[in-house]
Amino acid sequence: MTNNKKQSPDRYALVGHPVEHSRSPLIHTVFARQTGQRLTYELIDAEPAAFETAVRGFGAAGGKGLNVTVPHKEAAFALCGERSEAATAAGAVNTISIAEGGALRGDNTDGIGFIRDVTVNLRQSLAGTRIVVLGAGGAARGIIAPLLQEKPAELTIANRTKERADDVAANFAGTILTARTFAELDGQAPFDVVINATSAGLKGEAPPFPASLVGPSSFCYDLVYASGDTPFVAWAKAHGAARAAQGWGMLVEQAAESFAIWRGVRPDTKALLKQIPR
Ligand code: NAP
Repeated sequence: MTNNKKQSPDRYALVGHPVEHSRSPLIHTVFARQTGQRLTYELIDAEPAAFETAVRGFGAAGGKGLNVTVPHKEAAFALCGERSEAATAAGAVNTISIAEGGALRGDNTDGIGFIRDVTVNLRQSLAGTRIVVLGAGGAARGIIAPLLQEKPAELTIANRTKERADDVAANFAGTILTARTFAELDGQAPFDVVINATSAGLKGEAPPFPASLVGPSSFCYDLVYASGDTPFVAWAKAHGAARAAQGWGMLVEQAAESFAIWRGVRPDTKALLKQIPR
């Protein structure tokens, strides 16, 4: 006897705090339609104290996977029994796959999404360049290992709280990564690639970076995204950067990588990328 009852679509969600303005449901809905996958994508707002309960509860209710955003990426890393190489290098998880029985596998697609946007979509080569990463939070840590794989000539991480940059550099001991404060970078020759992985400037103040970071050949990239220029993109343009891009492309590409992990098919990102601000 055949069972004609249609199975309900697989459930996915983004868990973070806050999440209400997230574009992830829209992005995953477009990917699902394009690849013919039946799934739903929800938003779960959970404060830090409620994070584990939210993840376990979603799994117990049949959820298949979660994206994880601020401020839970490190907590997600701790919660996952199995972790990919990228998650281990970052010490942070942005993609959880939930097996039958509730076992959690953690991955991190921020780094690969970032590299793909910069090198493929924006055609910025990183090999042999001098790169500075501003910030030492979860997002910064996710992009260090993939940046090192691109073989830059120099890679510096600078942060307001120097100890956090030192911690990241200690995790990558034996590589070319060095840690600095913003002030220590003042007066150095402009960098070829300047990456903002801080949330500085979002409350209306000017980004606290030395102007000397940026020169007429600098490529500047902001992980932050907004409907117009982000404060960092405006700052980079005002200081004469050759190019300044914001993080919409990274958002789309990291989502495509998560989708591929969950569904085994990588969506084509070109159509969505055409619609995002650059
Ligand atoms: P996080 O872990 O909270 O780290 C925040 C970072 O910003 C820290 O380095 C912090 O420095 C720095 N910071 C905050 N306010 C500052 C200020 N006023 N002056 C100087 N530094 C300041 O956050 P995260 O997860 O790394 O995320 C950072 C940003 O990247 C977020 O805006 C997030 O939306 C964005 N992001 C985008 C994507 C994408 O797909 N495009 C992916 C991931 C993240 P201290 O250590 O001194 O506090």
